[in-house]
Amino acid sequence: MRTTIAEDRLNDLILGSGKIVIFGHENPDGDSIGSAVGMYHYLTALGKHPHIVINSRLPEYFNFIIPAGSISYYNEDKSRCDGCIAAADLLIFLDMNGANRTGEVSQAIEAAMAKVDAPRSVLIDHHLNPQTKPFDVVISDTEVSSACELLYHVLLDQPGVRGDVANLPKECAEALLTGILTDTNNFANSVYPSTYLAVSQLQARGVDRDAIYNEVFRSYSEQRMRLMGHMLQDNMRCLKQGVAYFTLSIADKQKFDFVRGDSEGFVNLPLSIKNIRMTAFFTEEKDFIKVSLRSKGNVDVNDFSHKYCNGGGHKNASGGRLYMPLAEVPGYFESKVEEFFK
Ligand code: 5GP
Ligand code: MN
Repeated sequence: MRTTIAEDRLNDLILGSGKIVIFGHENPDGDSIGSAVGMYHYLTALGKHPHIVINSRLPEYFNFIIPAGSISYYNEDKSRCDGCIAAADLLIFLDMNGANRTGEVSQAIEAAMAKVDAPRSVLIDHHLNPQTKPFDVVISDTEVSSACELLYHVLLDQPGVRGDVANLPKECAEALLTGILTDTNNFANSVYPSTYLAVSQLQARGVDRDAIYNEVFRSYSEQRMRLMGHMLQDNMRCLKQGVAYFTLSIADKQKFDFVRGDSEGFVNLPLSIKNIRMTAFFTEEKDFIKVSLRSKGNVDVNDFSHKYCNGGGHKNASGGRLYMPLAEVPGYFESKVEEFFK
């Protein structure tokens, strides 16, 4: 169900703003980049000058939907990002339930929003527990497949679009379908009747679904597949509670020429085992362990992540961070699994 604050003001805010900054969440995925790029094309077609700001780069296989010069990365060009944020009339947050999910760039956002003449702000999201402050417009729906699907429905409601997908730029439609395909893992999870409706209309707009599938799901390196084999053969552990988990060390990343995005989808793999109802994937980063959690049915990994992994997300797909050496993760995780399923 959609809950909104001042949704009808979205069009006025957009039309009344010149400089608009769109934010994606840190470690951007297909939904984050798809919704940001979709919004970028919608705004550009209205004669606006949007710019996208993201904390760090995304996997290269998303390059095919990114317009040249449309994105600045905070960890590479802080001053450009700070300048954009300071000059903005409107800030748009997509695919995140609060501005803090933008990562390090959130400090510059907070500073801008604390000013007397702060820019207006909009949150459009499908995660649980959306923050409502300090946004002028909040559009939240947790019963859609993705932020891209929600944005699709929102854009269709805009006065200039008049409910007709033909009035959206084709590049916008392409970006939105990319996010729907990736966030549902090619229609395996979180698919609603409204999802098929959106996809049907986006395809009717001329978007080539098969081409997107090939770009996103069939553009990996041979080494990535070998790393996957190593993870499953040598690292995966299955627990009696119906939980499977594995870890990816920095050493293994080096050994398999790991590039950003190479472990995308790994966390889903053990869910194909009949009795496995929850999976966890731990990736060693420089300063922390990145956690990815997935589940089937009623197992609530949003709850698990809140309780034990400093994160959140959705009931069947969540993430978080741990601050401990990788070697301590199995002991910690197994004890928390025992507590959780007691
Ligand atoms: P993934 O495992 O693909 O990184 O993330 C799965 C889901 O959990 C996504 O919806 C993502 O937004 C959310 N998520 C990932 N990491 C974090 C985190 O550190 N904190 C919170 N609150 N959510 C996260
Ligand atoms: Mn999403």
